[in-house]
Amino acid sequence: MSLFETTGDNQELKDSLETNLKSIRARIAKVLEKCPDPDREVILVAVSKKQPVEKIQTLAGLGQQHFGENYVQEALSKMEKLSHLNIRWHFVGGLQTNKAKFVAGKFALAHSVDSLKLARELNKKSKAIKIVQPVLIQVNLAGEKQKYGVTRDDLPALARDILVMNHLRLDGLMIMPPYFDDPEKSKPFFSKLRMLKQDIEQTLGIKMPHLSMGMSGDFEAAVEEGATIVRVGTALFGSRPAQDLSESRQ
Ligand SMILES: *Cc1c(COP(=O)(O)O)cnc(C)c1O
Repeated sequence: MSLFETTGDNQELKDSLETNLKSIRARIAKVLEKCPDPDREVILVAVSKKQPVEKIQTLAGLGQQHFGENYVQEALSKMEKLSHLNIRWHFVGGLQTNKAKFVAGKFALAHSVDSLKLARELNKKSKAIKIVQPVLIQVNLAGEKQKYGVTRDDLPALARDILVMNHLRLDGLMIMPPYFDDPEKSKPFFSKLRMLKQDIEQTLGIKMPHLSMGMSGDFEAAVEEGATIVRVGTALFGSRPAQDLSESRQ
């Protein structure tokens, strides 16, 4: 432990993370109570991109097990530093085909598969290391060009293609809707994703356990619409540092 790290500061960090964690868990539970399936398990993924290792470690110490990262190099470095902890890592960021080899086998779930090329690459690497990689297909329903995700039209074919890949397991769908100030506006995207999942399950005769949807601003709306995984960053950790990832202390 660094000389400059005082117990007081750590306690403060721990307290604030604990408050946030409890509050988010309580809000999820409260929404669930009113759902037709109150026993549904909702996994809270703490999205820790650009957050320091210390915060992840503290949150893990409070019992949080699932963490999500967006950038491959950053994620691998954090994994190495936190390898003594029992963390389930999720890859939630946009993924380039040439980075797929770093993701296979390292993450409990890859949320952002959105092309056949990427799926093939993940499958190839997973085969080479003799594992089956659980994946979600990221769907882009708003047709936002700058965002990752397969279009609604291309979704069924991609699902079918992934199903025949022996080293990928298709666990469900993920969405990141356009940003709205009002979470109610995200709801049509969430319910549409739920229906698309049902369509695929019926057409292909499979069951997929997960709908990954909802972030800090709209996770309650997502839970209401059937989310089984919510991905929460800022509401849990506070705002993300813009640049500085260094561990040096001022
Ligand atoms: C950053 C990010 C999140 C978390 O966003 P917050 O608004 O900070 O909760 C969730 N999902 C994805 C894919 C992200 O990139």
